[in-house]
Amino acid sequence: MKKEILLSGIPASPGITMGEVFLLDKEEIGIKKRRLEKTEVEKEIQRFENALQRTNEELQVIKERIGKRIDPEQTKIFDAQLLILEDEVIKGEVERRIREEKINAEWIYKKTIEKTVNSISSSRDEYLKERVYDIEAVSERLLSNLLGKRRIALDKIKRKAVLMAHSLSPGDLVNIRKEKISGFATEVGGGTSHVALLAKSLGFPAVVGLKDALRRIDRGDFVIIDGDRGLVILSPTEKTVYQYEKRQKDLLKQKRKLFRLKSLPGETEDGRKIEIQANIELIEDIEEALRYGAEGIGLYRTEYLYLAKSELPSAQEQKKAYQTIVDKMYPNPVILRTFDLGGDKFAGEKTDMVEANPFLGWRAIRVCLDVPELFKVQLRAMLEASVRGNLKIMFPMVSGVEELKEAKSVLDQVKEELESQGIGFDQTIELGIMMEIPSACLMADSLATECDFFSIGTNDLIQYTLAVDRGNERVAHFYQSFHPSVLRLIKQTVEAAHRNGIWVGLCGEMAANPLATVLLVGMGIDELSTSPLSIPQIKRIVRSVNFSQAKEFAQKVLETTDLQHIKRLLEEDYKRRFGAEEIICLY
Ligand code: PEP
Ligand code: MG
Repeated sequence: MKKEILLSGIPASPGITMGEVFLLDKEEIGIKKRRLEKTEVEKEIQRFENALQRTNEELQVIKERIGKRIDPEQTKIFDAQLLILEDEVIKGEVERRIREEKINAEWIYKKTIEKTVNSISSSRDEYLKERVYDIEAVSERLLSNLLGKRRIALDKIKRKAVLMAHSLSPGDLVNIRKEKISGFATEVGGGTSHVALLAKSLGFPAVVGLKDALRRIDRGDFVIIDGDRGLVILSPTEKTVYQYEKRQKDLLKQKRKLFRLKSLPGETEDGRKIEIQANIELIEDIEEALRYGAEGIGLYRTEYLYLAKSELPSAQEQKKAYQTIVDKMYPNPVILRTFDLGGDKFAGEKTDMVEANPFLGWRAIRVCLDVPELFKVQLRAMLEASVRGNLKIMFPMVSGVEELKEAKSVLDQVKEELESQGIGFDQTIELGIMMEIPSACLMADSLATECDFFSIGTNDLIQYTLAVDRGNERVAHFYQSFHPSVLRLIKQTVEAAHRNGIWVGLCGEMAANPLATVLLVGMGIDELSTSPLSIPQIKRIVRSVNFSQAKEFAQKVLETTDLQHIKRLLEEDYKRRFGAEEIICLY
């Protein structure tokens, strides 16, 4: 019997679950030894050659992109990797061993590479030693092509389990059948990484950033995932299980109580309207949004149409998806955000995207403006779905006025095309932008004259203001939502929007944080958009607030420059309102 062990990570998605572990580690990516029948051997060699070919094509694409976009010097790395890939000695040895030993290609390839790496690592030649990184990079790419990516491994989950992995991408999660896992924990990741946000939508309790915890865990171990506190309890004692079961029941009771508020409007005690809307990733989420009383969709992350399939959705598929959402929410508004691909929503799925700093890289509106075919198809599908009048379009990651103007001119072109073809759309459609880069917040006055609304994306705004990768557990303690600089940027943005007569919402995770609600209301936010399950809790807080008092409170918080002091003020205010009730996001 193992002893109970408490592993501490970062809360990613609230709730509690317990069960048997399904461990997804590198081995699990499927590198298993498999004997081949005589008749399978030539096919296996062909499969290996196809994977070589595919890897070669991917490397060529990256090399070309990097050469054009970044720095021709950098392409040398890929020349080196291509040479390794095409190395006749390695290729010859793999094919010979597959023939002689009659074992599957990935196993033989892995063994061959390990042998090569071992002999290079023990060499004294520094240049050669540096090649180890390239060899490993190439072999990972090739193995992933041979294995058809992680989906194979994920498909092996037979009964409902708690998934534990070194890392998971949004694409992995979107492709796991919901009934197969009850929650997950990963060694890497931050609380607002997209995999964490997706977990919330899917309703999985999750913990990320467990550092090197997996070495202590075996498949089949029993664990508790405490997504509220960011804990994983390995081999819990009976007493711990009992306590958690009790907690689960208490949370359910609280959730039921809050659920009664779902149909009430989001407005303060003294009648200021604050729209409480839902963020969704998948079309199915719309049902949850309705169930939990969303007054609209404040953010539909359309890139999930792509991530769910690993290929671009066709114009028809997009139009159908947008129309479904718009119809189901009618007459309430729906904000469709154009593709926010890149950052942590590319790498891993689309292997031709390798960037040193993906969050600072080719992402969101930058991708759309560089690939007008992609952008125009999406805008057209959105416009075609807009006839009922409740659809709004939003651009992500706008950094300044020129970029917004450029994107608007593409939108105008698409509108003209539709008009010339006699295809109807909402002529007064509202256009908004995400305010998630500090440069945009600083230029909010100018941007506000070019669009109809702002939606503040705190997930990115925090990472870009504080220079903290939102997905990196090592720096997670620097990711401070209530940092005075972040609060000032929010306040500045709200004021600029109102000065210029446009409304401003907030759709980052701060909208779901019970500690932030009164502050945001007091700063003048007009709309809050959050995962459907948080809506009742946020409504409850909004409905308990008096606007003029909230304004005074916000003023006090904004005058404070000490982060700990700010947190204290927020906690005290929450306690004043709701007593000693634990401050967690309730699901
Ligand atoms: C944000 O950055 O706050 C946001 C809502 O967008 P995303 O989380 O999709 O980057
Ligand atoms: Mg963002």
